[in-house]
Amino acid sequence: MSYSIAIDGPAGAGKSTIAKEISNRMGCHYVDTGAMYRAMALFIVKSGVSMHDSKAISEKCQEADITVTYEEEGQIVWLNGENVNGQIRTQQVGEMASVTSVNPDVRKKLVELQQKLASTTDIIMDGRDIGTCVLPNATVKIYLTASVEVRAKRRYDELIAKGENADLGKVAEEIRIRDERDMNRDISPLKQADDAVLVDTSDMNVEEVINTIMDIAKKNGCF
Ligand code: C5P
Repeated sequence: MSYSIAIDGPAGAGKSTIAKEISNRMGCHYVDTGAMYRAMALFIVKSGVSMHDSKAISEKCQEADITVTYEEEGQIVWLNGENVNGQIRTQQVGEMASVTSVNPDVRKKLVELQQKLASTTDIIMDGRDIGTCVLPNATVKIYLTASVEVRAKRRYDELIAKGENADLGKVAEEIRIRDERDMNRDISPLKQADDAVLVDTSDMNVEEVINTIMDIAKKNGCF
């Protein structure tokens, strides 16, 4: 029997760090769905379409061929044949993704791709709507969150570690805006699924979070 673990939560909750590590330990595939929304946003912006022109986005997104493959270094996101991993990780592309991901045609296309990826293998998938929409029958659903202050500090530390300039207050404000948009859009807003377990990581370290989620997964027969 294959299993699926859905991890949803707001920006900066640590979803990808945790999901990636669990997939390494348990040998299952990891799908970072945010990376797909980021690749789509990159495509739309590079095509010269306004992020606020819903009709044009609906048309343009049909031309984006987004796929993911798994290499030793992890998930690679391909946009029309180009490896875009190096271009999608910026704060700016995250913002753009949050704007273009409200479009129903963008969501339809990416949700279908995500469901296809999950249909053949054991999987851990993170995003905003995995437990509520993409994998409603997931074996385990986790809603991972932390206070805005803690999430902002983690993002800030990451940016500083990468040698980028950052302002803690500005990072916190951007996170607030992104939460607001992701939680209040019409289609598949970010929310905890009724059957998801809430894990608040504000006072937990990475190892504690991993152990908590692995315990829940084991109790549900995943590994
Ligand atoms: O998780 P990440 O920060 O990479 O996601 C970027 C944006 O993509 C999110 O702010 C959200 O608007 C969108 N997204 C989404 N549904 C998902 C994953 C990401 O709408 N399943």
